Amino acid sequence: MSIEQALMERSGSKCELCGSEDNLAVFEVPPVEAHSDKCILACGTCRDQIEAEELDQNHWRCLNDSMWSPVPVVQVVAWRMLTRLNSEPWAQDLLDMMYLDEDLEKWARAGMPADDAVATRDSNGAVLAAGDTVTLIKDLDVKGTGFTAKRGTAVRGISLTDNPEHIEGRVNGVRIVILTKFVKKS
Ligand SMILES: [Zn+2]
Repeated sequence: MSIEQALMERSGSKCELCGSEDNLAVFEVPPVEAHSDKCILACGTCRDQIEAEELDQNHWRCLNDSMWSPVPVVQVVAWRMLTRLNSEPWAQDLLDMMYLDEDLEKWARAGMPADDAVATRDSNGAVLAAGDTVTLIKDLDVKGTGFTAKRGTAVRGISLTDNPEHIEGRVNGVRIVILTKFVKKS
């Protein structure tokens, strides 16, 4: 039986994360091994989202159900997605309820970026720390404030956030979130 057939059977031909029947395909869950125990059947939306940087938290409310899947690899993916979403209180609540045994947790963590990779880095890869000064390398429209933070603006005394791709700093007296890919350490 092919992996796809095995997964179709296991899942009842539904996305194992959100239950959708659209555009189903095998998703190999990293670290990749071509075996149905290491793959999930996932719809196009879930597959795109798993690889995307920005998560649509409304879509991932489906984890509320799929985290209870009896299939270990589905639990692993649910755990990873909830961990990525854990700045959302609902995701943190689900994560708190979730239990992975030791081996599964090891596997789940193995697919997450290593601690070193989680360091907050600027556009050149330099590690940023709280209190650093950075320079914007691009004009940034600041949502909800009606001003543009100009390229070359120095932002002093940044703070780090839970997300290594975001820092916070004050521009024009307003505290804003800035994507680290648009700054360089001064
Ligand atoms: Zn799906």
